[in-house]
Amino acid sequence: MQIVGAGTQAEVYGPPLPSDMVEGTSVQPSSIVVRIEESTEPTPEPVYVYCNTGGRNYHSQECKYVYEHTPRVTLRKAVEASYTKCPYCNAPDSSAIFD
Ligand SMILES: [Zn+2]
Repeated sequence: MQIVGAGTQAEVYGPPLPSDMVEGTSVQPSSIVVRIEESTEPTPEPVYVYCNTGGRNYHSQECKYVYEHTPRVTLRKAVEASYTKCPYCNAPDSSAIFD
């Protein structure tokens, strides 16, 4: 092992052959950067629905039961608060919760 390491130092000052080894080692840091970018991508946008205070159903934005003061919450929050899908509008199903 120690003999090989000494040999690499000598090759750096030599002919073109060792340059291939230098490029091979420089690839490793860039591959790590790619992994970091991938980890930040998968962030699904939450599904929002509208729940009237005191009501039992959650609605899509175009539902006739949605008013200006109707609070907008995430579908997850609505389901957790025991709201159920409105039968009159095409509100997203509770299975639309991705996480
Ligand atoms: Zn509705």
